[in-house]
Amino acid sequence: MARKVTVIGGGIVGLAVARSLVQRGAQVTVLEKEARWGAHQTGHNSNVVHAGLYYKPGSLKARMSVAGNRSMVEYAQANGVPVEVCGKLVVATSEAELPALEVLAQRAEANGVPAKMITQGQAREYEPEVAAVAALRVESTGIIDFPAVCAAIVRELETAGADLRLSTPALGIRTSERGTVEVATGGAIVRSDALVNCAGLHSDRVARMAGFSPKARIVPFRGEYYELRPDRSHLVKGLIYPVPDPTLPFLGVHLTRMLDGSVHAGPNAVLALRREGYRWGDLSVADLLETARFPGTWRLARKYAFPVGYEEVRRSLSKRRFAASLAKLVPAVGEDDLVRSGAGVRAQALLPDGSLVDDFLVEQGHRQVHVLNAPSPAATSALEIGNHLAELLFTTM
Ligand SMILES: Cc1cc2nc3c(=O)[nH]c(=O)nc-3n(C[C@H](O)[C@H](O)[C@H](O)COP(=O)(O)OP(=O)(O)OC[C@H]3O[C@@H](n4cnc5c(N)ncnc54)[C@H](O)[C@@H]3O)c2cc1C
Repeated sequence: MARKVTVIGGGIVGLAVARSLVQRGAQVTVLEKEARWGAHQTGHNSNVVHAGLYYKPGSLKARMSVAGNRSMVEYAQANGVPVEVCGKLVVATSEAELPALEVLAQRAEANGVPAKMITQGQAREYEPEVAAVAALRVESTGIIDFPAVCAAIVRELETAGADLRLSTPALGIRTSERGTVEVATGGAIVRSDALVNCAGLHSDRVARMAGFSPKARIVPFRGEYYELRPDRSHLVKGLIYPVPDPTLPFLGVHLTRMLDGSVHAGPNAVLALRREGYRWGDLSVADLLETARFPGTWRLARKYAFPVGYEEVRRSLSKRRFAASLAKLVPAVGEDDLVRSGAGVRAQALLPDGSLVDDFLVEQGHRQVHVLNAPSPAATSALEIGNHLAELLFTTM
């Protein structure tokens, strides 16, 4: 008889694991609390298919993003999802950034990512307005429509007869004496042989609901975007990224030409005041208390509050500062060229010692798999993560 599996979370990771499970013969139910698929991180991101150059060689992120870069592009092409492999530039804007750019070039090589160091003149052939003393050209980076990927997976799941439930939050989880996993949804109890938790910003809470005690807590980091005014979008031809700070898990504000020709600028990284807090006014006392009670929060604050966190908050509140960060990459970009766009909230796992979990983090128990850290590039890597989780789950059953 087919094994029954419940997947909690209908973002790109939950949908991808559901697809992998169906392909292995499982009977799958997906529970999503919102009224549409991909409503949170998946629907509020940069839509970049990352190449895999930033991540520690051998890490899950490195392996799955390099493979995911290929599988995601192939999936999109085969399923009528808009995608374009346009390549990108990582630019050193001063001599001081050159050693870090070299390190990145070596990392790209170690991860098997096609990338080459180019001169200022060569960089300007790709991006005439860029300020670069040198750049790393990465060919395999692309732009995509991740919500359209979700829609394609949903169509596949529907065809395969999966039970897909929107507006259905998982409110409680217990394992019966006979070993059946029971998920209370408010309306009904969903019974299955196994559970996969892909609840993104709520993944640690869902794990605790299932009787797990994950060490890591989710800390929500909001990333805000601006857009270049349409008459200024000619300033950016493709994707322009800064040399990242290796001590931080974020890539720094960048300029991304989207599939519709608009140019997005961002995201920055500020602590959100609720798990799904897309604006400064979105505040949850319960979420804040939970974050404040976790010892890792205070250790993180000691490390990053000043000057990194302080500067991020100032940039979030000041369009002039945001524009100044972008002008380091493209000096012609000014404050008046920017229009406020949306924001996304990253689910970033934090450990009690104050360190941010760098790699994807998956924990498994009897008939349960919990995805406890799946930040960028998890959308790029989703099909690989899906396969990995499906394999893991079957080893626990
Ligand atoms: C600003 C930003 C920019 C990014 N840029 C990129 C990029 O360019 N490329 C890239 O590869 N990655 C990028 N990422 C990362 C990427 O978006 C995420 O890694 C990916 O979307 C994670 O998918 P997910 O399915 O795990 O989470 P989500 O998309 O957040 O899905 C989790 C789902 O679980 C649901 N849920 C939660 N609790 C429950 C419950 N109790 N019951 C039922 N449902 C529940 C939520 O409603 C949500 O829909 C970015 C992220 C952000 C925030």
